[in-house]
Amino acid sequence: MPKNREEIKNEVDKFFENLKDKTPEQIRKIKKKAMSINFKLGKLKRRFCQKCYRIYNFNDKIRIKNNLKVIVCSNCGTKRRWAIK
Ligand SMILES: [Zn+2]
Repeated sequence: MPKNREEIKNEVDKFFENLKDKTPEQIRKIKKKAMSINFKLGKLKRRFCQKCYRIYNFNDKIRIKNNLKVIVCSNCGTKRRWAIK
């Protein structure tokens, strides 16, 4: 039976409460689920690599320049940047 929007939202929220022990595969799946109901992950997206779905950790390079935060994934090298206030 397909789950409703509210259920999926709760599932996604719970998932991100305990991100540390999640695998990239699990992250990929939950992202898909969130997308299926058009639920924007927003800031949660900043906690993992958008390409290889690895959770960012202290190995990753973080640089701050011109009010932009740049993070480089130490696994696949994908750069992500976002504005900081
Ligand atoms: Zn990556």
